Amino acid sequence: MAVKHELEDVDGVGPATVEKLRAAGITSVEALAVTPPRTLVEIADITEEKASTITQSARALLNIKFTTARDVLTKRGNIGFITTGSKAMDNLLGKGFETQAITELIGEFGSGKTQICHQTCVTVQLPVERGGLAGRALFIDTEGTFRPERVVSVANNLGLNPDEVLNNIIYARAYNSDHQVLLAEEASHIVPENNVRLLIVDSVITHFRSEYPGREALAPRQQKLNKHLHQLLRMSDIYNMAVLVTNQIQSTPDTFFGNPNKPAGGNILAHGSTYRIWLRKSKESRRIARIIDSPMHAETECLFQITQNGIIDVEEKT
Ligand code: ATP
Ligand code: MG
Repeated sequence: MAVKHELEDVDGVGPATVEKLRAAGITSVEALAVTPPRTLVEIADITEEKASTITQSARALLNIKFTTARDVLTKRGNIGFITTGSKAMDNLLGKGFETQAITELIGEFGSGKTQICHQTCVTVQLPVERGGLAGRALFIDTEGTFRPERVVSVANNLGLNPDEVLNNIIYARAYNSDHQVLLAEEASHIVPENNVRLLIVDSVITHFRSEYPGREALAPRQQKLNKHLHQLLRMSDIYNMAVLVTNQIQSTPDTFFGNPNKPAGGNILAHGSTYRIWLRKSKESRRIARIIDSPMHAETECLFQITQNGIIDVEEKT
């Protein structure tokens, strides 16, 4: 069996540094090994040289090295899937929302982003044979739109005990972007101890957009957002957890050709998320989900429906 290493085991990391790293959410050797040295300089108040030595020691301890495609495939074999509640949408995604990845839900108001978040907070708790991961969810709510009542409806519909389901959702409201970043850092303590298999940030962009308006603020905003997304991606990888973030549509009136509506967050979000799902409204409760920019899916779409009981397939009329 592999030996589990602690931060204290890494050469050059003393008790004071351990304390600073833990406070910043870097609680494992794995997390330390993938944190850029420049970030360590800030977090631990150490020189760049020392940061680089520490990173190398952490990597050596974990035996991080080049690997083969076969090993990558084996690691991908550990990927878990969370059902969306709709077979059509699960098929669109492969088998559902994946662990070790960030999936971004993009769409205008009322397109169903928050409803899907509520839904998956419940379905992640299902046993694997029913399309879940028998795990908990962690919900970071930046807009104050989380409604436990919706969770109860979905849980009842799936025959789960609503009280238990509610207890398995760890919730935090983020009041500004700094708070949001801190909560994500704090999550790295909570996730491994609580069998969290799904982390949601709804929405990942709202605070950033309102706090950094205008062109001059774009660079610092994108830098901070980038760091936040990397933190989320790192966690999804280390803890084999699915990360679901929501994003808004931004209209670009100066577009002459093509769609004037674009996902907000620019290239940082486009590159930061592994899978992007664009949601559009159709008739009444019907919605269209389209997968865009995927490294392994064709750009296809599907229909689903939002109901009192959650997300379901559109019934075929015969
Ligand atoms: P925003 O950008 O404003 O956050 P969103 O994409 O998160 O929008 P949702 O809150 O997910 O939007 O979706 C709202 C839609 O869900 C509404 O159109 C509403 O009709 C539907 N909805 C909400 N609650 C229920 C319910 N209890 N039963 C049926 N449909 C519901
Ligand atoms: Mg919403």
